[in-house]
Amino acid sequence: MGDIPENLLSLLTRDIPAELRDHEDCLKMCREVLSELATPEDIEATCFHETGHFIYTVALSIVVQFPEEQLVMHGPQVTYENDDFGWALGSVQSPYDSSKIPFTTEIVEHLARVAVAGGVYARKYGQSADKSKGVRGDIRKFNDYYRLALQTLHKDPAFLEASEYIEDAEKKVAEKLPVFEQYAKNKMIEYKQAQFLPFLAYATKTKTSGVLSEIPSS
Ligand SMILES: [Zn+2]
Repeated sequence: MGDIPENLLSLLTRDIPAELRDHEDCLKMCREVLSELATPEDIEATCFHETGHFIYTVALSIVVQFPEEQLVMHGPQVTYENDDFGWALGSVQSPYDSSKIPFTTEIVEHLARVAVAGGVYARKYGQSADKSKGVRGDIRKFNDYYRLALQTLHKDPAFLEASEYIEDAEKKVAEKLPVFEQYAKNKMIEYKQAQFLPFLAYATKTKTSGVLSEIPSS
């Protein structure tokens, strides 16, 4: 684990039981996160992605009535669920619990916007090579909600196909980009400063040393 700086290792594994933190799979996840956040551009795109999720989770919070103050944005971390390690470059934690609030078509509409907003914001404002990071996982998560909603809403004539919700959400979120632009840019900086500075320092350092190594030593 010598290749992973100690401060990043402890940040990334903050939610992992102490005895599992030096597990080989856990370290592998740490390395994957660091390679996903290899450049300042990767980090900024990630922050815009999560900011997109955040803005639309706030919109959802109004519909399902939980206070916005209960939303928490987390930085990169290794996860451990059902004996499996995974990772997240960032996340927005909300108290929304689909098992406690009956689905409505309006809620499904909002869940689709939450899902697509990450990709829409990263594509619009991000400068990284890969702006679609995390998008497939986001759609998968929406499809999980959709399957649950289907159980109670399948007879509702206003209930659409999953792909229609996604398509409509992409359009609505893209249309509203100018409305939230300034807010999103401020939020992105706030989030980056709160959660990504150590990763940014590491990315900048790795990048600089890469450039230096191209200079002949003679
Ligand atoms: Zn996402």
